[in-house]
Amino acid sequence: MKREKSAKLYAEAKKMFPGGVHSPVRAFKSVEGTPLFIERGQDAEIFDVDGNAYIDFCCSWGPLILGHANPTVCSFIIDTVRKGTSFGTPTELGNRIGQLILDNNPFLEKIRFVSSGTEAVMSAIRLARGYTGKKKIVKFEGCYHGHVDSLLVKAGSGLVTFGESTSAGIPEEFARETLVLPLNDLQGLKDLLNDQAEDIACVIIEPIPANNGLLLQDRNYLVWLRKLCDDHGVLLIFDEVISGFRIGFTGAAGYYSIQPDIITYGKIIGGGMPVGAYGASNEIMSHIAPEGPVYQAGTLSANPVAMSAGIATTELLLEEGFYERLEEKTVFFTQILKDHITNKKYDMSIQQIGSIFWINFSKDRILEADNIDPSCNALFGKLHSYLLDNGVYLGPSAYEVGFVSAAHSKEQLERAADIICKGIDTLF
Ligand SMILES: *Cc1c(COP(=O)(O)O)cnc(C)c1O
Repeated sequence: MKREKSAKLYAEAKKMFPGGVHSPVRAFKSVEGTPLFIERGQDAEIFDVDGNAYIDFCCSWGPLILGHANPTVCSFIIDTVRKGTSFGTPTELGNRIGQLILDNNPFLEKIRFVSSGTEAVMSAIRLARGYTGKKKIVKFEGCYHGHVDSLLVKAGSGLVTFGESTSAGIPEEFARETLVLPLNDLQGLKDLLNDQAEDIACVIIEPIPANNGLLLQDRNYLVWLRKLCDDHGVLLIFDEVISGFRIGFTGAAGYYSIQPDIITYGKIIGGGMPVGAYGASNEIMSHIAPEGPVYQAGTLSANPVAMSAGIATTELLLEEGFYERLEEKTVFFTQILKDHITNKKYDMSIQQIGSIFWINFSKDRILEADNIDPSCNALFGKLHSYLLDNGVYLGPSAYEVGFVSAAHSKEQLERAADIICKGIDTLF
């Protein structure tokens, strides 16, 4: 397979942009080769500038639950664009998507639209601090919440645990306001809240951790998390930027039937356009400006073009049986991989929930980020290159999950599964 044009564009891009990319995960740092430059997408496929086609399981890192260039989404966007791209005023489209979401999600009473997942999380944290009047926040190792200063933090040395920033440019004083725990550690959580709850504004978690492998937690752990937050007067934030509208319309809150205090969204909610949102009860949301004292604003917030993509997408998600069909398809695909791994007795497994899957280079389900063996990187790197050569595109890192969209046909899934099985065979 030729990828000369991509390689040439990447060489040019490196002269203009740091690392040649606008988001670090796009660089092929942990796999072989250089990033593909994609020219177009249609349904489940993407096409690079060299004319190669790939069955796509990255789906723009999650937003494209309907696949690429869905005709309904595209024509709604185009109709809106013709009327102007932005006004900096309220629009009826904003009301329409607000209604669509609030009418179908009992976990929210009010919502505010922003322009990215990062912005949603940043605003939710500020809201939690403004609402509780407390400073510290708790996050979990292995959960990603965007590039918010106070959340680019990992557990420092020592037991529990002042955070240590994972990026230059974040003052130590900020990182110290973030406390970091391992996932699945109920005792650690109890101890931390017992000791420090009077300083803690909120606990933020990806209820379905899907940014560092797929570290599915036990429901019981999440139920306890909810209860402990209630007992200690600490807000619980579900970061559903990936899981929202992915694991059913009501996301992980609906899946586990747990009411968080604040929920953040991104990715699918914008149907492929830059949109994020955060929502909560009327009471909590009344603290946001202009109703309340917590300031948060945005020139392009609830942009009409972006809202149109969101409306067209969420309307289709509400069709009867949408999520059942998508999950059934995903299971059809992952079962082929699972059967192959079992037959060959490979030390691997496929983790799956809804239409999210993760190729795990360990037999066992993993619940804590630290239990992922870094030797998976080398294996995944080889697999990734085999898959590119054979027309299957996964995100370029062993720690990334894959997504199945409604546009993937069974025939494509069968073909991709067959290629992935053959690719796995080359590793062992
Ligand atoms: C992608 C993601 C974010 C950040 O969203 P951006 O739109 O990339 O800023 C935050 N939280 C989670 C759980 C995510 O998956």
